[in-house]
Amino acid sequence: MNDAFFKTAARAPAVGFAGAPLDRVSERREDQAYVAALRARPDAKAVLIARDMPILPRGEAPSAPFFPLAETERLGGARIEALLGIEAGGAPVFAALLPDGAVRELSDDSDGFLDRRRLVVPGRDDLALVDLRSIAVQGLVAPDALAVLGQAKAILSWHARHGFCAHCGHATRPAAAGWRRECDVCKTPHFPRTDPVVIMLAVDGERCLLGRQSRWPKGMVSCLAGFVEPGETIEEAVRREIHEEAGIACGEIAYLASQPWPFPSSLMIGCFARATSHDIVVDGKELEDARWFGRDEVTAMFEKRHPDGLTPPAPMAIAHHILRVWACGDQ
Ligand SMILES: [Zn+2]
Repeated sequence: MNDAFFKTAARAPAVGFAGAPLDRVSERREDQAYVAALRARPDAKAVLIARDMPILPRGEAPSAPFFPLAETERLGGARIEALLGIEAGGAPVFAALLPDGAVRELSDDSDGFLDRRRLVVPGRDDLALVDLRSIAVQGLVAPDALAVLGQAKAILSWHARHGFCAHCGHATRPAAAGWRRECDVCKTPHFPRTDPVVIMLAVDGERCLLGRQSRWPKGMVSCLAGFVEPGETIEEAVRREIHEEAGIACGEIAYLASQPWPFPSSLMIGCFARATSHDIVVDGKELEDARWFGRDEVTAMFEKRHPDGLTPPAPMAIAHHILRVWACGDQ
């Protein structure tokens, strides 16, 4: 049997936010008695989110971001709860969105930025709020726990932003163990969003195209990316975005891997694109710069010895792995 079409799956890289170790039991979310029985289990756990940020126990990294479900009540009760799934040992894991009042902002000028604010849980020095991007970049939790936090943030952010029916404007309510919202007036069901984004490396022989956005960390260059539009295939979106942002035409497209990206609810679709033109025209809006890079130059970035101090994206991002597969082969 010819199964060459599986060859890309064999080189799927270990990206951040992927590989949650839970059985999502999606077929049982409508069974309210089942979900209530899970909630009542003494080993029921929760990941806690307030103001879009996970709550972590203070201590040495990596920390385990799981609390007894009962902890939710001690922190003011959950505004929204969603069943994330069941651990291999049988313990159910929920995501709980705490009320905004459960946390407080402190002025913090300890690092010289007077307008910097820090969120704290009043009276709980054992807890810290850390934004998910920092947790991922700094490796503050183990990779499988990071995937659970990403799942929790994505579903709870969706609830927090979809309190009203997009069809008739009335308030909606959570259903299906937190995986749907329903409008009791017009009866429209609303499902969590996942927004597809293509992220790709255009390749021209022994060169690849990298760009830079002004808001990125100093010196970082990366793959181009953009949202897939209605009525568009992944391949068409890849070609359109590269042409829009850098003026390069592309032909053949190859898929590498994908990554959940909970900021707030994207799925990054990682691809390679074969360039068919060579002269770059930077759009000046999405990108402040873009140019061709040789393999030696990209390798120097990974080895932290690029003469201009250029750096690749962080290893938790799929762009890092797309670039590494191109520059260094499968790993
Ligand atoms: Zn409605």
